[in-house]
Amino acid sequence: MSMMYYPGENTSERKPKETPVKLSGFILDETDRVCDEFFSPFTETDRKSLSLLKDRITGIYGEYRRSHKPGHFHAGLDLKGDFNERVYAIGFGWIVQIFRQFPHRSVVVEHHLPDGSILYSMYVHIEDIQVQVGDWVDENIPLARLFNAEELESADFGTSNHLHLEIRKTLADRGRASYASMSMAELNMACIDPLKFFKGQLK
Ligand SMILES: [Zn+2]
Repeated sequence: MSMMYYPGENTSERKPKETPVKLSGFILDETDRVCDEFFSPFTETDRKSLSLLKDRITGIYGEYRRSHKPGHFHAGLDLKGDFNERVYAIGFGWIVQIFRQFPHRSVVVEHHLPDGSILYSMYVHIEDIQVQVGDWVDENIPLARLFNAEELESADFGTSNHLHLEIRKTLADRGRASYASMSMAELNMACIDPLKFFKGQLK
């Protein structure tokens, strides 16, 4: 079932856990609004399967990259997919940021974990973004889709149609770590290895 949740929307049936009461900055101050489970960003036969996710990997965290700032360390996991394949939120949270410049259009979801910490999932190289900043989402909410053939060609990524997925600890770097981390130490200040993260979340 696919639903979208809006902060402040007063409904008893559609709310994911509880209707949020504090909206400014989308601060969750109720422990029952945490995200305690994560999933693959794609519809798979099993969205909790680590091996299905691994089958899609074409680029890993920390890889040396020549694009953008030459020599930077890759900040995410590249996950191949079909043309137009839908991309879903990996878990419960809300949209805190949308970047609209092709071919790096992206969405950021903020997740509050049971231990009180915050993580961000960032989905890059997507089109037809279907959410807005402030929307509540969960793993059944399509955020956007991967490129079609024409978009892939104009993006000039070669033949690999993929989602660039980052798991971040912070957005304070204003996205700079995504393309300009010149050391692992610099990269690790903003991001964590998504594969390590999913190893703890998928089976
Ligand atoms: Zn990437």
